[in-house]
Amino acid sequence: MPTLFEKIITGELPANIIYRDPRVIAFLDIRPAAPVHILIVPTKAIPTADEIEDEDESLIGHMFIVARDIARQQGIAKSGYRLIVNCNPDSGQEVYHLHMHLIGGRPLGPLVPRF
Ligand code: AMP
Repeated sequence: MPTLFEKIITGELPANIIYRDPRVIAFLDIRPAAPVHILIVPTKAIPTADEIEDEDESLIGHMFIVARDIARQQGIAKSGYRLIVNCNPDSGQEVYHLHMHLIGGRPLGPLVPRF
């Protein structure tokens, strides 16, 4: 079964796409947690961070470069932002296609509530 994000990549499902190249697509998160909430998604179907392979090293680096450039375009590079990659159930990962959240545009508070 293709994931939601594979359907967005192929165009089967609509999304507000703000960037695309052969290796990466970026679109607005449908339930934004902040004024800027963008998902940066490799076109290669890697289910989780745990399934990244050594040969994906340059792809993962590219995701960071794309995130940096989008943050600049969105005007939040200097005010700050957070990049989040959830992996597997304890993280709350919902979509099993690797993705990086780019979140900013307001103070984000602590990374994880302390217990
Ligand atoms: P995660 O919990 O890290 O797997 O994040 C999945 C993210 O995908 C959540 O922030 C959702 O709001 C977002 N999401 C789910 N479906 C869509 C969609 N169709 N278009 C855009 N974002 C989506």
